[in-house]
Amino acid sequence: MLTKNQIYTAEIVDYTAEGQGVAKIEGCAVFVPNAIAGEICEIRIEKAQKTWAAGKIVKILEKSPHRINRACPVAKLCGGCDFHHMDYEEESRLKMERVRSCLNRMAGENLDSIPMHPAPETTCYRNKAQYPVSVHKNRAFAGFFRAGTHQVIENDRCPILPPEADRVKELILDWMNQYRITVYDETTHRGLIRHIYVRRGAVSGQVLVCLVANGRKLNRVPELIQRLKTVPGFATLVLGVNTRPGNAILGDEFLTLYGAGWIEDTLCGLTFRLSPRSFYQINHDQTERLYNAAITAAGITKNDTVLDLYCGVGTITLAMSRAAGKVIGVEVIPQAVEDAKDNARRNGIENAEFLCADAGAAALELEKQGVKADVVVVDPPRKGLNADAIEAIARFAPRRLVYVSCDPATLARDVALLKEKGFALQNAQAFDLFPRCAHVETVVLLSKGEVDSKKIRVEFSLEDMDMSEFQDGATYPQIKEYVLEHTGLKVSNLYISQIKRKCGIEVGKNYNLPKSEDSRQPQCPPEKEKAIREAFKYFGMI
Ligand code: SAH
Repeated sequence: MLTKNQIYTAEIVDYTAEGQGVAKIEGCAVFVPNAIAGEICEIRIEKAQKTWAAGKIVKILEKSPHRINRACPVAKLCGGCDFHHMDYEEESRLKMERVRSCLNRMAGENLDSIPMHPAPETTCYRNKAQYPVSVHKNRAFAGFFRAGTHQVIENDRCPILPPEADRVKELILDWMNQYRITVYDETTHRGLIRHIYVRRGAVSGQVLVCLVANGRKLNRVPELIQRLKTVPGFATLVLGVNTRPGNAILGDEFLTLYGAGWIEDTLCGLTFRLSPRSFYQINHDQTERLYNAAITAAGITKNDTVLDLYCGVGTITLAMSRAAGKVIGVEVIPQAVEDAKDNARRNGIENAEFLCADAGAAALELEKQGVKADVVVVDPPRKGLNADAIEAIARFAPRRLVYVSCDPATLARDVALLKEKGFALQNAQAFDLFPRCAHVETVVLLSKGEVDSKKIRVEFSLEDMDMSEFQDGATYPQIKEYVLEHTGLKVSNLYISQIKRKCGIEVGKNYNLPKSEDSRQPQCPPEKEKAIREAFKYFGMI
């Protein structure tokens, strides 16, 4: 066992699921916040157990080239983000690595790499904020909790939020301080305002404000509305009543004080109605990429019935409805189901049905009633699928099963269970919807049956993809753009991959190679080769 308060020198060799660095000292795993793989650090042990310990960096002896200065002034204290101390390249790599290692370790896969889709925008991407409110010397303030505590860390401008969210927060705090609106105290269970909740439609620009309060009565509402009207896009104010002690942010009662009580946003070409309670992914553009990947993986035809379990407000269900014969969404929160039905209506979709129930129980029931699901999509919360859901999926034996996951560990556990039921993993892709935070989303395709799986294996073979894309600094489109801008030449993926091979840059084993020995492929002409090499040099790839 390591000794508390003693300082050890060690290399950071890995990361935890929460993004902390891990060092191995005397056979013991030591968790070190704010550390980057490859760094050699002096670490002070703060907590020591038999097999693990928690430590803090005292000094970095060898710094990682991925270490950067924190762009957010409160990043060190605020528990909202995890990765302001490293560049986005390393963050993307560690997220891909986490998905890969979970699937390999827990689901018995043998994946060398997984296609990773990093976010093009790492700031202002979050379309929802829930600020806890606190008070100091009679002045109300808000921010986010310090990690592992309920201490509110004040922050004027959170870099991952749109400016409108911080503006709403500021206006509400001014209003509270001017009219002495009280702040909720969780120890005494007295005081009124608990959280400031802001949701902004990324496309619509509409802003929903929900003031979460320990009571139903709010004074000075006209004064508050008047202030909020100065925020671009402000559309509605809701009082969220939550009088229960505990950590849940929202209660069950919502009183609309201004506007409709909901806003609209556009996703995958459809319009969605969003209430405070409805689940809606917080990163719009990456969500579209994620859903498009799920839709492609589902390979839906017009004769198919698609079952979408854990459907929320019906985003994936409705996006898939256009390709399918019929779609059925199942969701446990009644308000989300109401929103889903309304979303189907407002988009003129007539082949969608929504059920309000536990996903597993509903799926078992549907199967009993003789419903056939050709494709099943699941997008469960972090805890993953329950036993009923796994059993029902096995009984449906869908042609394809698409699993959208926000937790690689429960995903891998469920993939292992589904493999026991005869499914095989065909394809996995990771998407970063949460830059600067440790979460990562994954889309996997599973299918049952030899013939089908062979067919899909060819379509998705990992060896046919160029996994080096995101590790090598420049993507194919970036190289094309550079070449076009500097030489006026247009170059293809094929030519780029040919020159990559010539330069010894790793390319997927079969990526863009002829499918048989005697088939001929065009060869990159010398002038284009020169231009591509210039681009490689520019991006530091050679
Ligand atoms: N597919 C949707 C929602 C995914 S989030 C989207 O991408 O927008 C997971 C959803 O599962 C949430 O809406 C949550 O309310 C719902 N949920 C949680 N437990 C459930 C259960 N046991 N049965 C059905 N739905 C559940």
